[in-house]
Amino acid sequence: SVDRPRPLVAGNWKMNGLRASARVLEEIHAGYTPGLRAKVELAVCPPATLIGHAAQLSVGSRVAIGGQDCHAKESGAFTGDLSAEMLADAGATYVIVGHSERRQYHKEKDQDVCAKAVAAHRAGLTAIVCVGETREEREAGKALAVVKKQLRGSVPVDSNSHNLVVAYEPVWAIGTGLTPTAADVAEVHAAIREELKRLVGKADAPKVRILYGGSVKPTNAAELMAVENVNGALVGGASLVAADFLGIAGAY
Ligand code: PGA
Repeated sequence: SVDRPRPLVAGNWKMNGLRASARVLEEIHAGYTPGLRAKVELAVCPPATLIGHAAQLSVGSRVAIGGQDCHAKESGAFTGDLSAEMLADAGATYVIVGHSERRQYHKEKDQDVCAKAVAAHRAGLTAIVCVGETREEREAGKALAVVKKQLRGSVPVDSNSHNLVVAYEPVWAIGTGLTPTAADVAEVHAAIREELKRLVGKADAPKVRILYGGSVKPTNAAELMAVENVNGALVGGASLVAADFLGIAGAY
């Protein structure tokens, strides 16, 4: 349809990457040919120590750079934290918020994630808001309810199709090699799209990118990306290898 948004394939490097990883970025930039660029937007979210360098490298290649988390405040006495403004200043245009590893290891709740997304918007960044059920929740038949509740609690009211990307990442699929069936992905993404009508309005909801994340590989990307309402991928492990990341993007 005319409304179908340009897909986004975003790499989440997590706590991986030293300055030598610039080589991987250079390979990604080199492989982001005009042909691929026409089909899909690419973003890489390296650790914050590499954002400045990554942003410099991406000048001209148009690979977007993102952070993996941000603080809700603009500045202040928050030792060790980074504001959305700092990420933007270093060259980021995206920031992941509410990743399940942040929710798990840093006890982030939906309202914390929402405040971070507000901060991202304040700084002019596009927030990639992550949601997803645990294995127990899926087995209990609660996946849809959990995802909808997380979405309502984590997406701020000032969101629109430019400053919001939603990533559906079932926790049990992250780093495990397991993926949901295409039918299960379709069901959750349809529910997210429906919920987005209420959150960003009926006209804008079809334009919001909804990414699938969790064990996306070059071998399963085509099947996952072909699912209705899947507008790209959030890629962890496979984004650390340029050929794999580009292979996933090439599934479009
Ligand atoms: P994975 O991670 O691709 O390594 O499963 C995805 C994510 O956590 O964003």
